[in-house]
Amino acid sequence: MALIHLFRKCNQRCVFCSYPAEEGGEESFSLKGWLKEITAMPPGLVQLSGGEPLLAGAENLRLLLAAVKKLGRRAELQTNALAAAGLAGEELKRLVGALKAAGGYFNVNFPAATPALDYKITRARGGFRKRLAGVQRLIKAGAAVRLTHVVSEVNYRRLPAFAAFAAKNLKGIAWLQFSYIKGIGRAEGSRYLPRYAAVRPYLEKALSVCRENKIRCEVDHIPPCFLGEFYALNVDMVKMREGVKGPHLEEKKKVAACRGCRYAKLCPGPRKDYFAVYRSL
Ligand code: SF4
Repeated sequence: MALIHLFRKCNQRCVFCSYPAEEGGEESFSLKGWLKEITAMPPGLVQLSGGEPLLAGAENLRLLLAAVKKLGRRAELQTNALAAAGLAGEELKRLVGALKAAGGYFNVNFPAATPALDYKITRARGGFRKRLAGVQRLIKAGAAVRLTHVVSEVNYRRLPAFAAFAAKNLKGIAWLQFSYIKGIGRAEGSRYLPRYAAVRPYLEKALSVCRENKIRCEVDHIPPCFLGEFYALNVDMVKMREGVKGPHLEEKKKVAACRGCRYAKLCPGPRKDYFAVYRSL
């Protein structure tokens, strides 16, 4: 798996951004440079990230995706989907076609079910309306769309409401991932990191809502010991079972409380940045 940050620029300023834009300075980008970087990366899925990749322009992304396909690799296009709302019909169709041809999917950061909460998290005025329209357009154009809902101090009590919102307004998504906030970048420190135990009841309820509505879902960065009957939705368990090497092994570490745990073989432990804040689970 290979993660490439195309650039840092973005049309949001999310409180949890793990790769925030630096102030000042214009960024240049080149298709050639990106391709060179991708070719040198480990094999497997290519994750195109930013900043906001759609700001590269739909045509540039289409060309990049065609090149990724030529390398025989699959692609994930990470986006906040705001720009998808404004793409011309043909542009959108070509972009979706190129991603599909590369066996890929859009991974849309969708942090809230209301405009007010969306704004509180992303600082993008009108972002909620555009994001909703953008995702609905992508689905309508036949794209595979994964939603990533970053779970933070700001939104964890509304997880069940978000699941209900997705079931009602985002029919046709391929799957939904609840991803606990990474305590790096803008979110470094404790302010936005809730305790796993506080998140648990809300997350379990949200996962029940997803199950009732037949929404496929998964959970990242919250250990299985905090997922109750949904423990198997933890994405690390699959990676550990299959012996996949990757960032989950570097970002997480078992702690004293893990001793004797029934999931120990299939769980790498909590995130190190979580432990740095709470010194325990
Ligand atoms: S190994 Fe640790 S973090 Fe993982 S499930 Fe067990 S107790 Fe929880």
